[in-house]
Amino acid sequence: MTLDITAAVVNEEGAEPELETIELDDEPREDEVLVRIVSAGVCHTDLSTADNFYGGPPYPQVLGHEGAGIVEAVGEEVTDVEVGDQVAMSYDFCGECPNCLSGQIPYCENLYEHNFLGERTGDGTSPLSRDGDRVSGYFFAQSSWAEYSIANERNVVRIDDDVPVEIVGPLGCGIQTGAGAVMNALEPESGSSLAVFGVGSVGISSVMAAANVSSCTEIIAVDLNGDRLEKAAELGATHTINPEETDEVVEEIHEVTGGGADYSIETTAVPEVLRQAVDCTTIPGECGLIPLRPQAPGDHRGRRGAGAVHPDARGALEAGPVPLRRDHHPLRVRRTPRRHPRRRGGQHDQTRAEHEQPLTAARLAD
Ligand SMILES: [Zn+2]
Ligand SMILES: [Zn+2]
Repeated sequence: MTLDITAAVVNEEGAEPELETIELDDEPREDEVLVRIVSAGVCHTDLSTADNFYGGPPYPQVLGHEGAGIVEAVGEEVTDVEVGDQVAMSYDFCGECPNCLSGQIPYCENLYEHNFLGERTGDGTSPLSRDGDRVSGYFFAQSSWAEYSIANERNVVRIDDDVPVEIVGPLGCGIQTGAGAVMNALEPESGSSLAVFGVGSVGISSVMAAANVSSCTEIIAVDLNGDRLEKAAELGATHTINPEETDEVVEEIHEVTGGGADYSIETTAVPEVLRQAVDCTTIPGECGLIPLRPQAPGDHRGRRGAGAVHPDARGALEAGPVPLRRDHHPLRVRRTPRRHPRRRGGQHDQTRAEHEQPLTAARLAD
């Protein structure tokens, strides 16, 4: 059976999505669900994909990976959700690779194939077509910029009936990424300080988590956009800094925190900002890196690093009524104390300036 649906179709590289009527094969396979989309976010990853930054899927394509809605039909083997359930959708994963089996699903070794190809993993089919011609769908196993979506049981998560589903969409990517970076990766102690560089949807979710869950005492939001800073202050930031108004971002954070932030989060992927995000911390301090730049379009296909490029989460959502848990694993950089020379005149340079502290011990978070 096919169903005529309205979807936002990207017809060629860099094109604006256009609302068109296309067809959806609406019969879910045994592990799939049909979802009537109520809300869907727009993430930078969608825009980059439309620009062909990741090397797929082929055009025309329907994007969208922050969908939420109501389950309309389920495949024979689906047990997690039922018809009528409200669900949020996040990314897909294989569930079989060593990382998935050890619970590190944001680092699924097959993450690219399961999310970026615009087709079902395995048989390469798409549930979408237009006048009989294939349209890339199943983006992040959802392609939720559409009235209806075929998703996989793995990437839908039931949400409570009293949660307004129309605002849930961005939970599946931006919100869980920012909040998870605080709650699951950095885990700042109550009373500690956190600086967040970039307060878009990811960074502002970090601010909210730091204020409402972690009880950080100083929460510093840094952004070039004054409106975002205002919103950050409204939602929990205790201090805001606009780098357009000062050259001393790092110094201001040191002053606010009395010697450096205990934790920082970098969301911008701008190397100079990363430098500031490390330098603003105290010693020892800890900086969480949310974005990484792939070397070239498509270069992170199949690479472990893909999880860090888009280290959002989904296992967490599956966990139940408190959705944001165990979900996000950004790379962490620890700012470590300089080693003291064993004897005067030793090989270590005691006078090295603070800003030359090495970025040591980058590692995947637990
Ligand atoms: Zn996203
Ligand atoms: Zn996997």
